[in-house]
Amino acid sequence: NSYFTEIQELPPDPLFGLKARYSKDTRTDKVDLGIGAYRDNNGKPWVLPAVQQAEAKLAKTPGYNHEYLGIAGYEPFVSSAAKIILNGDNKDVLERTVSVQTLSGTGSLHLAGLFLKKFYKGSNALYLSLPTWANHNQVFASIGFDVKSYPYWDNDTKSLDLNGFLNAIALAPPKSVFLLHACAHNPTGLDPTKEEWSKILEAMSKYDHLPLFDSAYQGFASGSLENDRFAIEAATSASSPIKSSPIIICQSFAKNCGMYGERVGALHIVLPKDLVDLKPAIKSQLNKIIRCEISNPPAYGAKVVALILEDKALYKQWTEDLQVMANRIKSMRVKLRDLLTNKYKTPGNWDHIVDQTGMFSFTGLNKDMVERLERNHGVYLVSSGRASVAGLNDSNVERVAQAIDEVVR
Ligand code: PMP
Repeated sequence: NSYFTEIQELPPDPLFGLKARYSKDTRTDKVDLGIGAYRDNNGKPWVLPAVQQAEAKLAKTPGYNHEYLGIAGYEPFVSSAAKIILNGDNKDVLERTVSVQTLSGTGSLHLAGLFLKKFYKGSNALYLSLPTWANHNQVFASIGFDVKSYPYWDNDTKSLDLNGFLNAIALAPPKSVFLLHACAHNPTGLDPTKEEWSKILEAMSKYDHLPLFDSAYQGFASGSLENDRFAIEAATSASSPIKSSPIIICQSFAKNCGMYGERVGALHIVLPKDLVDLKPAIKSQLNKIIRCEISNPPAYGAKVVALILEDKALYKQWTEDLQVMANRIKSMRVKLRDLLTNKYKTPGNWDHIVDQTGMFSFTGLNKDMVERLERNHGVYLVSSGRASVAGLNDSNVERVAQAIDEVVR
């Protein structure tokens, strides 16, 4: 044709393709362990009680309306979001931070990428963990970064390849961007320990790289918002080894508030002391990018989350809701491991299922096993062997264990 250059049809997105196959499957006992969304013990989406209460309160607020937000978003949301991820008691860090509202975590990563691409004087190399969330690659490649990877998961030991990670930090061009999962690493469910984090941050500082934290699961991993921001606090506090580089944080409320489709997120750029004067300029440039891309962000979810973060009773309810989700997932990990180990005596060691944290377990099942799980048992997980543990419940965990046992033997 004379209108478009070659437009090739692409294969469906692997995760959303899996969702489509699952929906079409007519087996009544099928199990969805694909997409990373929390399900309750009946396998149903869960509207958090804190969210329900905040929505009711919001609807009754005098003057409630659906007007446009400002370009940088809903200010009460943006400032409360910064306090929750950065530790609100640390005024020094908050004063060095520029924050704007974004289209959830993905929009935050994309905005961070556009901003860095335009203004960062460092290397064009951007390092992702191997493996990582499938979307990271294309988000940054599409902006023009030279996307590389650092070793993370050691498949033999099912633990962190710390030496490989530190080596990659040492060998990367100075001032490279390193994307770090703040907690609940996707897809492996494996987080560095506190000691390992301090080595990683020391090395990041030594080689002057820019840390870009992706925080999509704060509160989801341990059930505690404070625990799950450990790495970010360690990187941004006064005692951090990182003194000269800015630190970027991409924050999502999709999972920890169960607000997946409302696209609630924020971008925070924490500046070193000597760059604080750049705050107004940075904010204005972020605003310009936002104005071009989306004009202004969506209001509803940000208003709901702001209420939860600001209202003492709602906040308390939220912390309880987080524990409900984290504990249910932890109990499913234990059940699955126990069934495989004790009941079915499935070959191999399954302790990693319990040791891992957050939404996912990197099961160690290979592509062929995953295919057979889907074909023969109606149990759906992505081909890497990553299982969304939130898809397990008391009614299906036994069946899933039995199916895994069958494909492993
Ligand atoms: N980062 C990671 C590691 C994720 O797992 C996800 C969601 N799966 C996101 C970012 C982005 O999620 P959202 O855009 O829905 O906030």
